[in-house]
Amino acid sequence: MNKFKKKALDYHSKFPSGKIKISPTKKYKTQEDLSLAYSPGVAEPCKEISHNPQKVYKYTNKGNLVAVITNGTAVLGLGNIGPLASKPVMEGKALLFKIFSGIDVFDIEINETDVEKFIKIVKSIAPTFGGINLEDIKAPEAFEIENRLKKELNIPIMHDDQHGTAIISGAALINAIELVNKDIKKVKMVVNGAGSAAISCTRIYKKLGVKPENIVMCDRNGVINTLRKNINKEKLEFAINTDLKTLNEVIKNADIFIGLSVGNLLTKEMIISMAKNPIVFAMANPEPEIDYNMAIKIRPDIIIATGRSDYPNQVNNVLGFPYIFRGALDVKATIINEEMKLAAIKAIANLAKEPVPKNINIIYNEKKIEFGKNYIIPKPFDKRLITYVAPAVAKAAIKSGVSKKKITNWENYEKELLN
Ligand code: NAP
Ligand code: MG
Repeated sequence: MNKFKKKALDYHSKFPSGKIKISPTKKYKTQEDLSLAYSPGVAEPCKEISHNPQKVYKYTNKGNLVAVITNGTAVLGLGNIGPLASKPVMEGKALLFKIFSGIDVFDIEINETDVEKFIKIVKSIAPTFGGINLEDIKAPEAFEIENRLKKELNIPIMHDDQHGTAIISGAALINAIELVNKDIKKVKMVVNGAGSAAISCTRIYKKLGVKPENIVMCDRNGVINTLRKNINKEKLEFAINTDLKTLNEVIKNADIFIGLSVGNLLTKEMIISMAKNPIVFAMANPEPEIDYNMAIKIRPDIIIATGRSDYPNQVNNVLGFPYIFRGALDVKATIINEEMKLAAIKAIANLAKEPVPKNINIIYNEKKIEFGKNYIIPKPFDKRLITYVAPAVAKAAIKSGVSKKKITNWENYEKELLN
């Protein structure tokens, strides 16, 4: 067994097994404490809530509790390994929610692949939760599941594999374009991959200003053009009118390559053929579409981001989901809408332009991290993320009219976030 594998297994199996536990938040020392916590005292908040359902937020943990829900059909790069084997991932997500934004999570692994049945199960357990993070559900089912649940429930719901990546890479994209002094309305973009991540990222890039006519999307069979037969409706949304067929052809003179496909398919010749100061987001995990070191050697003028923590510019969803849900929960948003996602993008992008505190340099073993081609997005351990992203999301929810609670004293709110 290799060393890292052993370390990972030992980490998970060390007593108590797994990564998360539940602990009480009220006193439980005396008989009276117990009679308040449970029968007969517990009947009082029950009655209050049954008269006024909104009081559930006052008397229970609903407002700080998110369900991380999967059916295990598209887990990491491991594929359809099923609900049971996906549990470590969902527990991991629970850990990240807790440490970065104080949100409690129940990880829920559901043994159901039928879309209608899955939706029904999630709807039936929704009363427990303030929000739902859908995770590692395969495309195209994930699109239908998320759309339907967003329509049929009135709590914030987000399929993080789609939107988390879109938000973080969107922030990286606007900063990269700014650094190379190009105009987002004119850049030519090639997106390789047409799965759930690629589709939702490209939708967001369009909202950020990239023109649909400047985007070419490719899948396993090459360029998605209007000549292609039998493609799903998500891909059809990006089909363009061209007779070009291969990545090789369309990448010539492109300003931006977005990789959300598989590792090592972008060749030397391809990146050589890209425009000046190319932006390459090679986000396939664990192997990026092109080797980082090779790319910077061949194109010293490149700005490159990957999904990996061992290179600069890691596109990591943890920069987003803890704070997006924090902001959404804190104003009792009924949805996570486009306005909230765009606000998160801008907040993340702006934070990268701020001077980086000393302690972050120390954590990442660096001397002077500063905004530039090797630092286009903040680092996960940047404690300022919560005060940048959560208030931005909360404000966007209020402004777009989807919040059930208002915050007026933002200074105070930011202070509370740091506690
Ligand atoms: P997915 O739904 O399975 O989609 C994969 C897409 O890649 C499909 O559209 C597939 O084409 C395409 N593809 C596969 N082989 C290809 C090839 N040789 N040439 C061109 N396209 C090819 O997966 P996903 O969830 O969208 O994730 C895609 C990749 O992005 C994974 O490697 C994942 O790890 C990575 N990802 C990274 C991050 C991050 O860095 N933060 C976040 C999310 C995802 P067909 O449609 O023709 O099958
Ligand atoms: Mg995931």
